[in-house]
Amino acid sequence: MISLEEAKARVLLALRPRAVEQVALLQALGRFSASAIRSPLDLPGFDNSAMDGYALRSEDLKHASAQHPVILPCAGRIAAGPAPGLLLRPGTCLRIFTGSALPPGADAVVMQEDATALECGIQFVEPVKPLENVRLRGEDLRTGAALLKPGQKITATQAALLAASGVASVAVPVRLKIALLATGSELRESGASLQPGEICESNRTLLAALLSPLACDVLSAPIVADSLAATVDALRAAFHEADLVLTSGGVSVGEFDYVKEAFHKIGGTVDLWRVAIRPGKPFVFGKFGEKFLFGLPGNPVSAFVTFLLLVRPAILHLQGASNLELPVVQGTLAEAVTNRGDRRHFIRVRFEANQIFTTGPQKSHMIGRLGQANGLLDLPAGAQWERGSTAPVHLWELPES
Ligand code: AMP
Ligand code: MG
Repeated sequence: MISLEEAKARVLLALRPRAVEQVALLQALGRFSASAIRSPLDLPGFDNSAMDGYALRSEDLKHASAQHPVILPCAGRIAAGPAPGLLLRPGTCLRIFTGSALPPGADAVVMQEDATALECGIQFVEPVKPLENVRLRGEDLRTGAALLKPGQKITATQAALLAASGVASVAVPVRLKIALLATGSELRESGASLQPGEICESNRTLLAALLSPLACDVLSAPIVADSLAATVDALRAAFHEADLVLTSGGVSVGEFDYVKEAFHKIGGTVDLWRVAIRPGKPFVFGKFGEKFLFGLPGNPVSAFVTFLLLVRPAILHLQGASNLELPVVQGTLAEAVTNRGDRRHFIRVRFEANQIFTTGPQKSHMIGRLGQANGLLDLPAGAQWERGSTAPVHLWELPES
């Protein structure tokens, strides 16, 4: 048996970085930047008004009060958009709007609610501070400020910041194409009527759902019967379409476990590891030219846990991400937990308000209560942890607040 860390290190070492392409911002959403991006602009790009109102010199309103209002003639209007080249002359004001460039000579804006338009000019009844209601060039972001680090995920807010900074496209690794194969003669498409001995296939749904936030293209291949010929054909077809093939089932040592043998037959080189984690001991990792095979156990909970711990980091790495790990939080055990075995146990738990609750029986075919869980409690071999002790949980879903 090898440790989880060793298995992960072997996988990551074998992966080649993918080619990079330049894509528009919305095509880059959820993907990972291949380069560092700095702002080519100041934001705001010029001094401008934060209000609809009047641009003027604060000096001119120094003595304004209700008893001694100041009236300034309005010498023109500056709409938002290309600056009309108006200068503010002392003793006058200019009508201005939110986002309009502050005219040279002005150092403040009085909002229109604080001014009164009279026939002879605009009346002001209180002073204004220098720079009041003015947005200064570069106060939000300076030219050269870091917008994205290499490997950083491009989110909605980051994309908006890039757009605002004039960066309309980014370099990201080419999207990974992943084919999902479910092997097992007992499997039927979910919703089909079942004969005795048959079950509804669920691993492709599980894996496709877990892959959906990882910004790759997922192809779901037809169910593969337990025969060498069917497995060979299915793997060949899948590798024809995809960069990475993710199988479930057929990787233990049963008589009907053909994934390894079939992969050999099509010319792949394959490793089968017994990773010292529970659930999910058998794990297949293979290379097919520049492409990869990940073979997960068929038991849904084993497939789930091995995916999160071994496949997810590999896919993120191929997609150029710098952070490959699930978030780990520390919580307080609401009950005692014990691991009498010799493998690290990833117990499905609910992490809520910093408390850790187990979610019932932990056998690897039991998905009945998996939906209540949002994390994996990482329990070392031989551990006996008391209720109330602090323990690490890998979260795959953020707890509801
Ligand atoms: P295997 O790894 O092929 O020995 O399968 C282990 C267990 O997982 C068996 O009970 C299978 O019926 C079940 N299983 C395998 N593949 C799937 C799947 N795609 N969906 C649901 N259950 C599965
Ligand atoms: Mg099987």
